[in-house]
Amino acid sequence: PARTRVAPSPTGDPHVGTAFMALFDLAWARRTGGQFVLRIEDTDQNRLVEGSEQQIYDSLEWLGLSPDEGPHVGGPYAPYRQSERLDTYRPFVDQLIADGHAYHCWCSAERLKELRAEQERNKLSTTGYDRLCYGKTREERAQLPGFSETPVVRMLIPDDVELEFTDVIRGSVKAPRPDDQVILKADGFPTYHLAVVVDDHLMGINTVVRGEEWISSTPKHVLLYRWLGWEQPAFAHMPLLRNTDKSKISKRKNPAARLMWFKEAGYLPEAVRNFLQLLGYAGDEEHEVSTFEEFVERFSWDKVNTTGPIFDLKKLDWLNGHYLRQLSADELADTIAAFASETGQWSEPTHRQLEILRAAVPIIQERLVLLKDALPQLDFLFAADAELVVEEDAVAGLNESAADVLEAAISVADHVPFDAAAIQAGLRERIVDGMGIKPKFAFAPIRVAISGRKVSPPLFESMEILGRESSLARLRALR
Ligand code: ATP
Ligand code: GLU
Repeated sequence: PARTRVAPSPTGDPHVGTAFMALFDLAWARRTGGQFVLRIEDTDQNRLVEGSEQQIYDSLEWLGLSPDEGPHVGGPYAPYRQSERLDTYRPFVDQLIADGHAYHCWCSAERLKELRAEQERNKLSTTGYDRLCYGKTREERAQLPGFSETPVVRMLIPDDVELEFTDVIRGSVKAPRPDDQVILKADGFPTYHLAVVVDDHLMGINTVVRGEEWISSTPKHVLLYRWLGWEQPAFAHMPLLRNTDKSKISKRKNPAARLMWFKEAGYLPEAVRNFLQLLGYAGDEEHEVSTFEEFVERFSWDKVNTTGPIFDLKKLDWLNGHYLRQLSADELADTIAAFASETGQWSEPTHRQLEILRAAVPIIQERLVLLKDALPQLDFLFAADAELVVEEDAVAGLNESAADVLEAAISVADHVPFDAAAIQAGLRERIVDGMGIKPKFAFAPIRVAISGRKVSPPLFESMEILGRESSLARLRALR
């Protein structure tokens, strides 16, 4: 059974990449009867953002990707937050130093900056740390310039470091030669590289799924596994998601890189999850729409793209429409109401508003793309008759027969049985057949009177929902 994990840093709004990794983590864990773990990697204390951790929990839960173990749910390997595990890392650092695989470095930030600048000026082929501190005692090093009181600890990368490793998705992968990586910072916190290896090992993680930008770090991790005498996990480096112009999506450039954006924009979690499944698999056209269970059933690392999948929101819109139509009318009404309350489209819906919404959902369900569009399409049904906003250009667009049409519509609406079919038949018989007015001109004034707009959801159904009194009041108001 696989033990997988997602290991986000709580440094801001959760990234869609986190959900992308979590989806594949969870699927692989389910496929093999294993567990999926959430670990919070908060060792970079300067970048922490208040509330970010909670958003990670909430957004994964929203997508149905909740972990089996994690800081908020506990588990046998707790704590799952790296800042609560500082004592765990130290002995391994000491061991690496004692074994000659790591060394103290007292170089000040200024010296390292100068070193980099000099290497750039001289266009040196070997860049990186020059090992000034290596093999020196504190006293020896203190005699030289650029000394800082509190040292860091660096890995001593051997000349014959293995740069090739086997990736579950990519096969054999070669990474560039690493620098003498810092593993313990001056503040006593481990860096990502040490903490990720120690925690993955201690938490029994046997498949590491992460973004391809970590490929260059993997040789360092492989070294640490070897030095510490641990079996290394399998690595699966997922492709990075790309904008339509092929650039890597990032929160700064694309609002959809923020996981919460999908919820705010009115997508259903099922659609987003399905979309992420498709992004991971290339050319899986037959299975475009598939449940998570089906995805797990057919799961295979061979199907994962290695070129960055394009983040095409048109496909997501299409999927969202599909999932919206799978809901019963009542489910959709409840979903719209919950969305409207959460996003502030509605403060606290009244009983009457909920009733209207339930009645109206069937007339918009066929074409609805995003939850956020539902209430604006229906706003005329919620408005009091006297407060209906009638668009000026909708009125201006009516022709000279409008007054006669409205007069006739009032007398029809006054007596027909008030259901959509009877209303339609009655209006057609009287205005189109009886007065010889083309349907286009026969129904436009009625639509403007009823909805205030040129374009609205189906007219006769709208009238039925409004009821006779309200429909008559609106027809009279435009007469
Ligand atoms: P920013 O959005 O501010 O540019 P970023 O996009 O580089 O930052 P990070 O905070 O560096 O995001 O990364 C957060 C997580 O999201 C990391 O685990 C990273 O692997 C993942 N990630 C970042 N960009 C992508 C992407 N384009 N596709 C998939 N995963 C990504
Ligand atoms: N904390 C890292 C990140 O935010 C985890 C990378 C990994 O999965 O190893 O992406």
